[in-house]
Amino acid sequence: METVAREMPDALEEACGVFGVYAPGEDVARLTGYGLQALQHRGQESAGIAVGDGEHLSCYKNVGLVTQVFDDAVMDALVGNLAVGHVRYSTSGAAASREAAQPHLSSIDEVEIALVHNGTLLNTEALRTSLEQEGAVFASGTDTEAATYIIAEATRRTGSVREGIRHAMGVLEGAYAMILATPEALYAFRDPHGIRPLCIGRLPQGGWVVSSETCGLDIAGAAYVRDVEPAEVVRLGREGLDAESGPAAPHRASCIFEYVYFARPDSVIDGQSVYQARRVMGAILSQEAPVDADLVLGVPDSGTPAAVGYAEASGIPYAFGIVKNHYVGRTFIQPTQAMRERGITLKLNPLPSVIAGKRLVVIDDSIVRGTTSRQLVAMLYEAGAAEVHLRIVSPEVRWPCFYGIDTATRDQLLAAGCTTEEMRQWIGCDSLAFISPEGLHRAVGGARHQGWCEACFTGSYPIS
Ligand code: SF4
Repeated sequence: METVAREMPDALEEACGVFGVYAPGEDVARLTGYGLQALQHRGQESAGIAVGDGEHLSCYKNVGLVTQVFDDAVMDALVGNLAVGHVRYSTSGAAASREAAQPHLSSIDEVEIALVHNGTLLNTEALRTSLEQEGAVFASGTDTEAATYIIAEATRRTGSVREGIRHAMGVLEGAYAMILATPEALYAFRDPHGIRPLCIGRLPQGGWVVSSETCGLDIAGAAYVRDVEPAEVVRLGREGLDAESGPAAPHRASCIFEYVYFARPDSVIDGQSVYQARRVMGAILSQEAPVDADLVLGVPDSGTPAAVGYAEASGIPYAFGIVKNHYVGRTFIQPTQAMRERGITLKLNPLPSVIAGKRLVVIDDSIVRGTTSRQLVAMLYEAGAAEVHLRIVSPEVRWPCFYGIDTATRDQLLAAGCTTEEMRQWIGCDSLAFISPEGLHRAVGGARHQGWCEACFTGSYPIS
C-alpha cells in the first residue's frame, strides 16, 4: 500500500473536490481530468476517476496530483459515457493512501456504483461497526467507503438507486456533497444543511457537468445552470436532468469560509462571486480597522483580492510584496522544529525592494495556530518593513470544523485561548484586527441565500 503521511497544517485545509460528467460521445475521462485540475486547490493528496459505459464501471486512482496520477495511457483506457472524479485532502491528520483515494466502488449483486464525496460524516464509527457486524468488509477507514456500502446495499434491497440514496441520506449525519455514478447515470446530492458547495453545468453539445465549484464548469466549457439544493437529489442521464427535493434542514448552513479561503476566486457560489466577496471583505476591513500606512500587501493567494479591496477603499497603494512558491508539496513531514520553521520560507518570500522602510498593511485570510503569521511578520521585518499591521478577513477562528475541513484541535487554535492583544504580541506585529461577523455577512450579501455555517467562529454547530 502506498501511503504518504503528513502533519497538521497551520491553516484550514479543504478536504476534497468532486466532479462528474454525463456526456455520451465525449472523452468523459479527460473532461473529468480537466475538471479535477481546476479543483486541485481543494485536495492534493490523491486523485481518481471512474467511468461508466452503460454496462459497467471502471476506475483508476492513486496518491498524487491529477497530473501525476493520470497519463495518456490511463486516460485512453477510461472509456465511457459518464465519469466521476475526486481530488482528496484527508482530514484529521490521516495518511493518504490508494485505498482511501476516491471514487469508492461497490458492487453488490447486480448493483454497481462509484461514489465521490466532499465533506465529513459524523456518525461513521457507529455505522461501520453495525455494518461490520452484518458482514461488511472495508478496505479503508474512510466515511465515504461506509456511505458507498450503505447506498449500494439499500439500492440492491429496493431496486432503485434513488431509494438507495434516500435511505443513506436518512442515516448519514454530517456534511456531504456527493456525486454517484452507476453505469448509466449520475446522481448529485447534498446534505440537508447544504454545508459544502455543489453546482450543475450544461455542455454546449448537451451533456451535463457537476462540480464542487464553477471554476470546474468553466474549464470543461460548461455553462452554469444552478447549484444543487440542500437535501436535493439530481439525476443526470439519457432523459436529461431529473431533480427531487428532500426534507431540508430548517436552517440552511452553507460554509461561509468557502468565500474567505477555500474556493477559487474565479468561482461563483450561489450567485455570489468569490473574488468580489473577497474584495469587499478588504474594503470593509479598511473601514472597520483603518491604519496609517504606505502600502497594502496581500498574503497570496487568497489574501490578494482582499488586499486590492482594502487598497481601493483606503487610498493606500496596493503592492506586490510577497512572492508565493506554488510548487511546494504539503505531504511530507518535517521532522524538526527548525525545519518546520523554515517551511514558510519555502512557500512565501518578501520582496525587500518593495517593502524596505515602508509601513505595511498585510491582509491574510485567517489565523489558525498563528505560527505562519508569526514567521511571516518576522520575515517582513527582516526584509526591512518599518511597521507591519496585520488585517484578517475572517473573524477569529476559535472552534474546530467537523464538516470536511482540516483544522487544528481547539487547544491549538490561537484565538481560542488569547485576546486579540495577546495574539498581536505573540505574532509580533504592530497592530492586528479581524473583520467583524457583520462585516463578513455584508461581503457575501450577494448570495441567493443567507444561511451560513460559522461554527468555527461562533462554536454554534448546525449539526450537533
Ligand atoms: S465550521 Fe467553519 S470551516 Fe467548517 S463548515 Fe462551518 S464555516 Fe466552514
